[in-house]
Amino acid sequence: MIIVGLTGGIGSGKTTVAKQFKKLGVPVYIADVEAKNLMNKSKIIKRKLIQLFGDKAYINDTLNKPFIADIIFNDKNYLQKMNDIIHPRVAKHFKNWVLKQDAPYLIKEVAILFENGGHKSYDYIITVTAPKDLRIKRLLMRDNTTKEKIQAIMKNQWSDEEKIKHSHYVIENTALELTQKQIVNIHENILESV
Ligand code: ATP
Repeated sequence: MIIVGLTGGIGSGKTTVAKQFKKLGVPVYIADVEAKNLMNKSKIIKRKLIQLFGDKAYINDTLNKPFIADIIFNDKNYLQKMNDIIHPRVAKHFKNWVLKQDAPYLIKEVAILFENGGHKSYDYIITVTAPKDLRIKRLLMRDNTTKEKIQAIMKNQWSDEEKIKHSHYVIENTALELTQKQIVNIHENILESV
């Protein structure tokens, strides 16, 4: 089974691109969404996050995101500990998901792919890019956030230049029609390689 990693900086348009691949019939696994689902559903993750952050980690069985975001924003050790709880379980969940798919290739969308050396587990990597200013503009429209918060996240991510060097395909996501054309080309190219 061919596994394609889809990545890109914050606000580049990974999910927008992933949805287009899905429309072409490609099974898509969005790691952030699945991680969030598991944080609310998995008993073991819940138990471990309560051990780490205390009872306030959940309100009515739902992850208390603002509470946790505040802690991890101020202390990176907590972010690491939280990732150590969640990542192995998402990896296992992904493996099980792969076994259930029947398609020439699969896509896994991951925000942080190169940064932790994970790129070796993919047959191909697609990086979505867009100018930083445009990404900030999109995120300010989508989320209740600030330019400073977005820039702080960008600082922790590899630059587009660095990602491009290690990618098999690059999608420049500015005008949607052009993005769509690049997606179709890449889709056909991967199918030919299978
Ligand atoms: P994150 O890093 O937060 O997960 P992402 O890389 O998955 O974000 P998206 O959520 O796909 O990015 O896109 C960010 C915002 O920009 C969304 O509101 C989306 O609708 C919008 N957007 C994405 N691509 C385009 C485009 N080509 N033209 C206009 N708006 C776009």
